[in-house]
Amino acid sequence: MVIHPTELKLRGVLTILFKDLAILSDATKYKNINKTKRVRQLKKRIKRLERQLSRKYRMNKQGDKYVKTNNILKLKKKLLRLQHQLTNIRRNYRHQITSELVKREPSFISMEDLNVKGMMKNKHLSKAIQEQGFYEFRTFLTYKCKEHGIPLYLVGRFYPSSKTCSCCGYKNKDLKLSDRIYKCPNCNAVIDRDINAAINIRNYGQELHNKSIIQTL
Ligand SMILES: [Zn+2]
Repeated sequence: MVIHPTELKLRGVLTILFKDLAILSDATKYKNINKTKRVRQLKKRIKRLERQLSRKYRMNKQGDKYVKTNNILKLKKKLLRLQHQLTNIRRNYRHQITSELVKREPSFISMEDLNVKGMMKNKHLSKAIQEQGFYEFRTFLTYKCKEHGIPLYLVGRFYPSSKTCSCCGYKNKDLKLSDRIYKCPNCNAVIDRDINAAINIRNYGQELHNKSIIQTL
């Protein structure tokens, strides 16, 4: 039996680019939940509580010793509750998105694999990545794909998904991080930077998928 790639495409293919949490090759963008009003407010309240708490600690310090007053314990409890709330909102969102993705029953999903360890060394990036929960997202998606029998391909971080033109394959080495629109000097294609990268990751996943089908024939 031979399965043609065109037949596979009919069932739809999803690609995930990890930018605003998730960008799909069909141009769907899932918002970064950390930018929503609810999460921003919650983070603000947590910050304020943390400041309050450290002030109280300093005020009640006896010599070298920190004393836990009833007030401090109360604040701590409140802080912990808010932190749990925030963790749950983020986790639920990851569950919601990954469930939606597998429910579409794509013939495969390909996703860029981020160099999380390397990025964690960058102060500015590490916080954002932690908040986005890339590991957890990937873990959820991996087991849900398994449950639904959907192949998941991780596209290595050295693949130039942003610099390659998704129309003609030309590599634009001069593309800067600030260029939000990909303008191809070779074929004149103009496309949103992230959508372009997502399409490249889809195409790369398609290649891997075709190879794996040939191997199992
Ligand atoms: Zn091009």
